[in-house]
Amino acid sequence: MSAAAFAGATLDANDVAWLKAQHLIVPVRGVMPSQLRDTFNDRRGGGLHEALDIAAPRGTPVVAAGHGRVVKLFDSKAGGLTVYQFDPGERFAYYYAHLDRYADGLRAGSSLAKGDVLGYVGTTGNAPPNAPHLHFAIFRLGPERRWWQGMPIDPYPYLRGRSPS
Ligand SMILES: [Zn+2]
Repeated sequence: MSAAAFAGATLDANDVAWLKAQHLIVPVRGVMPSQLRDTFNDRRGGGLHEALDIAAPRGTPVVAAGHGRVVKLFDSKAGGLTVYQFDPGERFAYYYAHLDRYADGLRAGSSLAKGDVLGYVGTTGNAPPNAPHLHFAIFRLGPERRWWQGMPIDPYPYLRGRSPS
């Protein structure tokens, strides 16, 4: 996914307010907001990273950053085992990648509450095997709400809450 896939979109004040109102938490258990580093604008393989990498030991629970239903479990070459979740208003998609495995029983259609475990930190896809981390992204969805197409938003300023331990 890239900005070009959804050209012309902008995040208006309404969207910003909506996203803030989700009170998103850091989607890796035990990681404090103060430990995050903003890697959104890092250069990666000729493009921008457009996501946050959150390092944690393999097997650390990955939790839902906010409320909303799972729309897709997808195994991709780059992302490995991934989850796409829409917020309750279906304006934004939350994307979780490089999972070691999914939480038991997770499926497309599952309703998640903020803090629910959806998987575990790993290195599937193109993550270095010695550097397990969660790749977390937020996309503003287009009017057709395609899980695979959206405008990337820097999650860093929105992850203010700590996940439940
Ligand atoms: Zn990443």
